[in-house]
Amino acid sequence: MASVKGSKVIAPARSVSAGGTDGFLYVGPYVHSIGLNDLQVIEEGVIAVTNGKICAVDSKDNLNRVAEKFGISEQNFHFLDNGEFLIPGFVDTHIHAPQYPNAGLGYDKPLLGWLDHYTFPMEAKYSDEQFAETIYNAVVKRTLSYGTTTACYFATIHVATAIVLADIVLKHGQRAFVGKVNMNVNHPSYYGESSENSLKDTETFVNAILSKKNDLIKPIITPRFAISCDMELMKKLSDIAKKHDVHIQTHISENRDEVKYVAELFPECKSYADVYDSAGLLTDKTILAHGVYLTDDEIKTIVKRSSSVSHCPTSNSCLRSGICHVRKLLQNGVQVGLGTDISGGYSPSIIEVMKAALAVSIDLSFEKDKSNQQTCALELKEVFYLATLGGARALRLDNKIGNFEIGKEFDALVVSLRGEPGGVDVLTPLNTLELLQKFVYLGDDRNVKKVYVSGKIVKQI
Ligand SMILES: [Zn+2]
Repeated sequence: MASVKGSKVIAPARSVSAGGTDGFLYVGPYVHSIGLNDLQVIEEGVIAVTNGKICAVDSKDNLNRVAEKFGISEQNFHFLDNGEFLIPGFVDTHIHAPQYPNAGLGYDKPLLGWLDHYTFPMEAKYSDEQFAETIYNAVVKRTLSYGTTTACYFATIHVATAIVLADIVLKHGQRAFVGKVNMNVNHPSYYGESSENSLKDTETFVNAILSKKNDLIKPIITPRFAISCDMELMKKLSDIAKKHDVHIQTHISENRDEVKYVAELFPECKSYADVYDSAGLLTDKTILAHGVYLTDDEIKTIVKRSSSVSHCPTSNSCLRSGICHVRKLLQNGVQVGLGTDISGGYSPSIIEVMKAALAVSIDLSFEKDKSNQQTCALELKEVFYLATLGGARALRLDNKIGNFEIGKEFDALVVSLRGEPGGVDVLTPLNTLELLQKFVYLGDDRNVKKVYVSGKIVKQI
């Protein structure tokens, strides 16, 4: 109480009308992306938040003016210490929550064998609500801990536990898309569904999520991939997406054998992308995971439909799928975000995925393309964009999140490289851009001191 009494409340008369009583502000360094090549590093800034949204972004010199304008009292000023800085929350555009128990396991088989031996048996367990609850709590807590403020989740075919995942996301305060998976053909006998049940359960799921009327959670139509859904089901799923105006997620061109199998299953279609296009699944709210073997024509189709790609480099390496040519996708105008693809990828951390995106891009840059040109490897600022604003754009959430523009939701991380408990030694004076580099290469969840979603603290060390 002493501190409340002792602090000077600035412009109390305007505080309620200008943003309620929950306003706060941060003073110190922040980093965010304005575009793919436009990383803004501010050493002495102010970011003010009212009602969960960013209401002012200014320089430290204008601290009092900002506080006065938005009625933020001194007790709600947060001064960042040396070694700390703010960044926008990470966006994981592709993650399978039910596969989390398998993270780091079973990378002795490529995609199709891996699905049969490890993934389908694990996903089949989610008919059990108690099991689902335990795992889904662990996934959401862990991803938040690494700073994933927005996640695009695959659940399983089970409608009841897909709803459990959505409830757990809301309980922990994460922003997410959640999808009930559809698989009506080429599935194991113990894990699959009829077309009728697949559609009925999808309608039930979408209505259940929409009826929560919570801005943090959205349903997403989730045909697993073209191998496990027939054309009729995919067309009807596209109709459901249209009817409710919701997003769609699936996999595309992850692995050579998968691409070959899809061509055999759909001889009438020109390509893998054409299968989805024929089904009406390529929309401006569609996110396609992997895209390792997309042809130039397929990229054109994806651009024409304004669909996006989730780049999953840890998974592409672990399952020996291949290397996605991200630079080419970006140059052609495809929106790209990053995905952990748990458990094709081993880590639930987008920090880990940023490192992998840099590494595979450097490996790719040693090779020459058809016209004997080498491509430029991705730079750290570009990978940071993919992890934040790029992911937001890929999910069509960039009007809400992705950077620190006025009017956006305050989804943010306080990063700390001040020593213990984080395992990063900063032994010489570093500026904020250098600290960001240290964080991306050496940091982990111990360096994510605080996580905000929509202005609410969802993790604090
Ligand atoms: Zn996946």
